[in-house]
Amino acid sequence: MKAVRYRPARELYKKLFGQRVQKISIDAGFTCPNRDGTLSTGGCTYCINSSFTPYYVSRQKSISSQLDEGIDFFAKKYKSWKYIAYFQAYTNTYAPLPVLKQKYQEALSHPDVIGIDISTRPDCVDEQKLDYLAELSKRTFVMIEYGVESTINKTLDRVNRAHTFEQAIWAITETARRGILQSAHLIIGLPGESRQDILSHAEKISLLPINILKLHQLQILRGTRMAKDFEQHSEDYKLWDIDQYVELMVDFLERLSPRIYIDRFTNESPKDMIIAPHWNGLKNFEITHKIEQRLAERHTWQGRLWKKSI
Ligand code: SF4
Repeated sequence: MKAVRYRPARELYKKLFGQRVQKISIDAGFTCPNRDGTLSTGGCTYCINSSFTPYYVSRQKSISSQLDEGIDFFAKKYKSWKYIAYFQAYTNTYAPLPVLKQKYQEALSHPDVIGIDISTRPDCVDEQKLDYLAELSKRTFVMIEYGVESTINKTLDRVNRAHTFEQAIWAITETARRGILQSAHLIIGLPGESRQDILSHAEKISLLPINILKLHQLQILRGTRMAKDFEQHSEDYKLWDIDQYVELMVDFLERLSPRIYIDRFTNESPKDMIIAPHWNGLKNFEITHKIEQRLAERHTWQGRLWKKSI
């Protein structure tokens, strides 16, 4: 039997649901405090929501019809899958509680949906919202996905995240205290971060009670403020080639707690939007395969250096 050298999130889903599940992205019409002027109007310097929205996702359509279309798309290929409504676009806890309840309930009332996954900023949850989600999670599957992005405040400032790592620690701790499943998202290669800084994320994230970690390489996309910053300060950006990135991910996994499931290592934006890096159109699953291969070649595994490094 092939040795398991890291913990893929699919194992957790299999344990929870007994079968493969598919997330259906939706745009539930939220905005973001980092765009609407509450914290800033510019948003995070890398942000462009159209880079991660499938064709059926549109705030002009109801939540139910986005789910219908998304499920229709996947059901043709995979008949027996179950579905999770993925509140993905913008900040999906950024509204008064009654509005949140109505949107989440609309998704949960779809006959093929078995739960919700809510993507949000760590500064956009509070005790009341978390209490409600904890209550809801006793009746259905609920997961919160926090955009942590970096564990270094200087980096968060540089990319105008407009929240701190301490705010992420608060949100994650309070979410875990209520028994709600959660994932954290990190971007690998934000400007100004060294290789050592990136490896230190693995050590700091391991100390937090997250269930799943989502990683992806920084992609500099056309039309973003980061694209301009990159033009002016390209020396601050580490653009890994694919082999360097694979090596980095193996080093990262070695320092990460073996308790944490990994959802993914990379992201694929539409090719014509990417300024850098270009990895010859390699798909996420191909890069994951390379990481698995490299773990085996180096005879190493997730968590091998974890205790030693903290
Ligand atoms: S928090 Fe998310 S939606 Fe808001 S500006 Fe940043 S990346 Fe964009």
